[in-house]
Amino acid sequence: MDYEQLYQEIILDHYRSPRNKGACPGCGVTVHQDNPLCGDEITLCLDEERGQIRRVCFEGQGCSIFQASASMMTESVDGLSTDGAMALGETVRQMMHGEPPAEDLGDLMALEGVARFPVRVKCALLPWTALRQALAESREAAA
Ligand code: ZN
Repeated sequence: MDYEQLYQEIILDHYRSPRNKGACPGCGVTVHQDNPLCGDEITLCLDEERGQIRRVCFEGQGCSIFQASASMMTESVDGLSTDGAMALGETVRQMMHGEPPAEDLGDLMALEGVARFPVRVKCALLPWTALRQALAESREAAA
């Protein structure tokens, strides 16, 4: 199986069985983002305590790239520090703009191929935009 195929499989898997999708009452911060170009919508909940992410979950609808990216995002930031999550988001953003990451990002690498389709880049980055907003708001609330 070549990488292209493997990445397709990973995206399909996250699309078909999204991780951390559904209502999660009691989360600290809730943000909403949408991508009118495609019709993607996300409501993201973030729970963090003293700079440590405890839970990230989402509800939303949209294309397969968006859904897969949202699922992968919640999984990849699980247990990270808020600074670490912010940095990872930046790395993914750069990757989506054609800059290969310095380290292997696991399942997230499947998104790399999306960079070749500029229309889809917004779809893939929407969950990360929501995460960044949630982290910023959470930080503000704690200050
Ligand atoms: Zn989309």
